Amino acid sequence: MRSHYCGQLTAADIGSTVSLCGWVARRREHGASLAFVDLRDRTGVVQCVVDGSVDVRNEYVLRVTGVVSRRPAGNENAEIATGEVEITECQVEVLSAAEPPPIPLSDRIDVDENQRLRYRYLDLRRDRLQRNLRTRAKVNSVVRQSMEAQGFLEIETPMLIASTPEGARDFVVPSRLKPGSFYALPQSPQLFKQLSMVGGMDRYYQIARCLRDEDLRADRQFEFTQLDAEASFVSGDDVRRFITEAVLAAAEAVTGSRPAFLGDMTWLEAQERFGSDKPDVRFGMELIELTPLFTATEFNAFRAPCVKAVREPGGAGRTRKQLDEMTENAKRWGAKGLVWMRVEEGGTLNSPVAKFLSESELAAIVTATEAQPGDLLYLVADERSVVWHVLGLLRLQLGKPPVNEGGLNFLWVVDFPLFEGVDPETGGPIPAHHPFTMPHPEDIDSLGALGEPVPGSDVLLAARSQAYDLVLNGWELGSGSVRIHRGDVQQRVFELLGIGPEEQQRKFGFLLDAFRFGAPPHAGFAFGIDRLVALLSGEENIREVIAFPKTQSGLDPLTNAPSEIDQKQLNELGLRLLPKA
Ligand code: ASP
Repeated sequence: MRSHYCGQLTAADIGSTVSLCGWVARRREHGASLAFVDLRDRTGVVQCVVDGSVDVRNEYVLRVTGVVSRRPAGNENAEIATGEVEITECQVEVLSAAEPPPIPLSDRIDVDENQRLRYRYLDLRRDRLQRNLRTRAKVNSVVRQSMEAQGFLEIETPMLIASTPEGARDFVVPSRLKPGSFYALPQSPQLFKQLSMVGGMDRYYQIARCLRDEDLRADRQFEFTQLDAEASFVSGDDVRRFITEAVLAAAEAVTGSRPAFLGDMTWLEAQERFGSDKPDVRFGMELIELTPLFTATEFNAFRAPCVKAVREPGGAGRTRKQLDEMTENAKRWGAKGLVWMRVEEGGTLNSPVAKFLSESELAAIVTATEAQPGDLLYLVADERSVVWHVLGLLRLQLGKPPVNEGGLNFLWVVDFPLFEGVDPETGGPIPAHHPFTMPHPEDIDSLGALGEPVPGSDVLLAARSQAYDLVLNGWELGSGSVRIHRGDVQQRVFELLGIGPEEQQRKFGFLLDAFRFGAPPHAGFAFGIDRLVALLSGEENIREVIAFPKTQSGLDPLTNAPSEIDQKQLNELGLRLLPKA
C-alpha cells in the first residue's frame, strides 16, 4: 500500500512520487481551497497539502499519493525530520474514518491515567510511547544478541507450574482435569533454570515473564519481564561479567555511548554509607557515623547501638513545619525520633537537644559532619538497621535527582547477608534472596555449626551469602546468586528457614532428587527489562514502557480484567464462590 514511511522523507526525495499510509495528526485550513494535513506513522509525521474539500479529520486513516516537494521558503520546520519537505498534488484515500479521540494525543498534555489505559491503543500512538516501546524492543534485541554471543542458549520454561518461592504471593490457576488442584504462575523460572543446569544445558537464558501477586508500585507490576540467566561451572564473578556485558551493550545501543561500570560495593558498605542495599550514588549526603562520639554521653537517647547523621548543605532555612513533617516521616519509617540541628554562623548548633549535649560533643558533631554554617544536620539513634533504613529514606527525600539526571550509575552490590531478619510469625530467619542461594564460603562453617536451627541468633544473621544485586541509580535492576547444588546443604538451609523434612519433600522433592544425580555447581541472575528500559527512557514508572500495563490497583481498564467467569466455567473447575463480603 505504501512506498515510503512518513517520517523518513527528506530533501533527497524531492521530485519522487510516493504513497504514504498513516493517521491524521493535525489538519489546518490554508486559505479557502487548501488544507495542511500532518500524516503520522510509526516513524514520524510529514505535511501533506490537500484540497480543502477533502473530508478528513484527526485520526482518520489515510493513504496519500503525491509528490515530495520543497516547502516554500520560510515554511520549513526545523523541529521535525521531514521539515524541509511537504507532499503536494495529493490524492487522498480514506481507509478508515475516526471519531474524535477521547484523550488528547499530544505529549504536551497530561491525561488521567485511567483514561490512558482505557484507551491504550490511542495512548500508544503518542510519541512518548512509540519511543519507549522502540527502546524496549532494542533492549530486548541487544540483550538477546549479547547473551547468545556469550554462549547462552534460549530455553523456554513453563507458565503452569508448582509454586517457586521468590517471597511474593502466587497467582494460581485452577485445574479442570484435577479439580481442587491449582497451578501457580511462575514468580520466576528459578527452579527450572537450575534443573536445566542439572540437565547439562550449561548456559541458559530467557526473556521471561514473571508473575507476583504483590502491591503495585512505580517499579512493580503483577507481571513483568526479566532477562533470566543461569550458567554451570562458573563463579559469581563470571555471572556478573556476563550480565555487565549485556546491560552495557543495551545501554550503549540506546544512548549511543557505553556507560562506565562502577564496580562492586559490599552490602554492608552500601548500608553504612547510603542506608540502602540499592544505593543511589548520583548524589552525596552520605550517612555519617557518629556512634563513637556518644559512648559515654549523658544524653540517653544518643547512647544507642548506632548514631548516624545526614548533612543537608544549605538546609538551615527549613521551616519548623517542614522539620515537623520530616520527623513524622522518620517515625513512620520506624525511628523513635529525628533530631535536627541548624548550623549557625561560627559553627554553633541550634537544636532542641543541644542543651543535653556537652560542648565537646557538639564540637565533635561539627567536626565529624564537616558542617558549614547554613547546613542542617539530621540525626537518628537506634538499632543499626533502623538508622540505615530511616536515614537512607530521608537522604533520598532530601536529595534524589530526577530520573533523567546524573547519568547511568551501574554498580554491583555483593556479599548480601544470607538472612535478612527473623519472621515474627514463625521465629525462623527470612532469606535475603531465595532459599536456593549458596552461603558465603567463609561463612559456611558457621552454618555448619548450625545443624540445629538457631533462629534469630547473630551468627545466623551475620552469615553472608553469595548473592549479588545489580543497581542502577537507586533502582534494584536485578538479583542473582551462586546456588546451592548439594542436597545436604540445601536441606540444611531449608531447615534453618523452618521448612521441615516433610514440607521439603512435598514442595521441593524434585529439586533434592535432581541434586542426587550429578548437579554441576551453578550460578545465575535475573534483571528486570521493564526497569532497565524505564531508566534508559528517563521514565519514573515502568507502566510507561509496557504496552498494556495494569493500573496501580491491578486492573486493566481496557479489557476489564479481572472479570467474573460464568457458572459453567466454575462448575468445570469444581469451584464454588463464597458470597461477596
Ligand atoms: N530468581 C531470581 C529472581 O527472579 C533471580 C535469580 O536468582 O536468578 O529474582
